Amino acid sequence: MPTERTLSIIKPDATRRNLTGKVNAVLEAAGLRIVAQKRLHLTTAQAEAFYAVHAARPFYRDLVTFMTSGPVVAQVLEGDNAVQRNRDVMGATNPAQAAEGTIRKLFAENIEANSVHGSDSAENAAAEIAFFFAGTDIVG
Ligand code: ADP
Ligand code: MG
Repeated sequence: MPTERTLSIIKPDATRRNLTGKVNAVLEAAGLRIVAQKRLHLTTAQAEAFYAVHAARPFYRDLVTFMTSGPVVAQVLEGDNAVQRNRDVMGATNPAQAAEGTIRKLFAENIEANSVHGSDSAENAAAEIAFFFAGTDIVG
């Protein structure tokens, strides 16, 4: 498997409950290395742009409101097959359907406040990493 990078976001429901370290421990135990990380409070314009792909979905406005409701932690994860590996350790979008041991099963509050974002393809990972980080911010 190739070494890859993917974009992860620890969402406001998790930062509010002071779970950044616990989420990071699960990521690291899954073989992912945090090679860049920053805490920030997204503006409405940033959240709208990041989730533009979902603009037509009924949950879009609520999602933007939720993602701007508190700080997030954006991070670049590196590892073998990192995109899929992170999706696996995140668990299903709806925590009620997430597998045991996944971040969403462990920590998510509901289908919207589901604790983490992860890129869903290598192509989207590159674009999402560039949304938050300059190349010089990433130290592998
Ligand atoms: P994922 O984050 O698992 O890739 P999606 O890309 O489909 O899921 O959706 C992006 C985010 O939008 C989800 O993580 C969740 O926060 C929110 N979301 C998705 N589906 C719903 C829904 N049916 N109701 C409310 N929020 C949703
Ligand atoms: Mg998605």
